[in-house]
Amino acid sequence: MKTLEGDIAMPRSPVLSGASFLHAGYPPVPSVLDAGARRLVTSGRVAIAMALRQMGVGPGDKVLVPAYHCASMIEPVQWSGAQPVFYRIDAHTAVDLDDAAAKLDGSVKVMLAANYFGFPQPLERLRAFCDAHGLLLLEDCAHAFLGQYQGRPLGSWGDYAIASSMKFFPLYEGGALISARHPLDAVRLQRGGLRFELKMAINALEKSFAHGRLGWVRTLMSWPLALKNRLWGRIKAHAANGVIDSGPDSSGGAFGFDPAWLDKRSALFSRMLLRCVSRPRMGALRRRNYLQLQQALQGLPGARPLHASLPEGVYPWGFPLLVDDAETLFAHLKQRGVPALRFAQYLWPGVDAGVCPVSCHYSQHVLLLPCHQELRPEELDLVVRSVREVLAP
Ligand SMILES: *Cc1c(COP(=O)(O)O)cnc(C)c1O
Repeated sequence: MKTLEGDIAMPRSPVLSGASFLHAGYPPVPSVLDAGARRLVTSGRVAIAMALRQMGVGPGDKVLVPAYHCASMIEPVQWSGAQPVFYRIDAHTAVDLDDAAAKLDGSVKVMLAANYFGFPQPLERLRAFCDAHGLLLLEDCAHAFLGQYQGRPLGSWGDYAIASSMKFFPLYEGGALISARHPLDAVRLQRGGLRFELKMAINALEKSFAHGRLGWVRTLMSWPLALKNRLWGRIKAHAANGVIDSGPDSSGGAFGFDPAWLDKRSALFSRMLLRCVSRPRMGALRRRNYLQLQQALQGLPGARPLHASLPEGVYPWGFPLLVDDAETLFAHLKQRGVPALRFAQYLWPGVDAGVCPVSCHYSQHVLLLPCHQELRPEELDLVVRSVREVLAP
């Protein structure tokens, strides 16, 4: 089916464009990378596992985790040997501290809390709660690479914080372990290997070409890419047994957690882009696109934005829309080529409405519309039009 003029698919996450590097004209934005010491690794989930290890979490311990989650938040806890204990969230996705308090026993060591969709938790209250109960706070900024709360960058409130570069940058691997409170000197990273380094650079370029961006680079690169395809076959053929695979699962958009990627450094290409891609532009355009969606979708029957407004200092991952009949809308968007996401669609076994009614409801009714910095105006229009075709025909 034809999705957009020229039949080029709308990118689900940012792809590299010539404009990705423009800084001029955009105000500076705070980022998790400003929050404290950091180690650039290959995914957010690996960073969670490394944070748990830094905190000495192991068998016999419990970790408080939100009932509203994706598997990549829970698998590292399971890997650590600790038991995940699910707490409730309220309608604003804030941690239900009464419920968390009720779950404390002597063996809870850590609280994992997520700044969902880029909107911060009431972090001063979480910090005070953890201090009062002798817990360590792990701040999950996978949806919040940019942003601040009460004048401090997100990621600086937790004992440790993690971030996911893939959700914000035109990258196919990358995450960060951050700490504003503890040194990370003892965390030593190793290289992921040549195949990994090459593959991550090539993936980013090929993805950009596939979505009709960077046409001039494509022309320049057509010959080297043909050469690469030949070389690639040779590299594969020569790879010794036991050599690490060319990329973590997470880089293919998969949800697996592979402990072999602990302590592996993010690829050079990804670390370069992390420096060069404009965070001010990313922040400004995500806010602009979000506000445009908010304006265009207000008052539609059967749906409302999860958040009534976009506070200053919030740089959203996507636009969370709470929809009565999310199935129908999701199917239509897919058919129209609009890459909506369903965060937390599959909850960990045992997490049901008895554990947290809000999480179960949001799990089935929140659709995340794209608002990233590389959407073109006609793509944002298609998002709006496609939603309206179902909700306001
Ligand atoms: C995606 C995600 C993670 C894991 O990040 P990856 O970089 O994909 O490993 C962790 N927490 C939340 C809330 C996420 O959405």
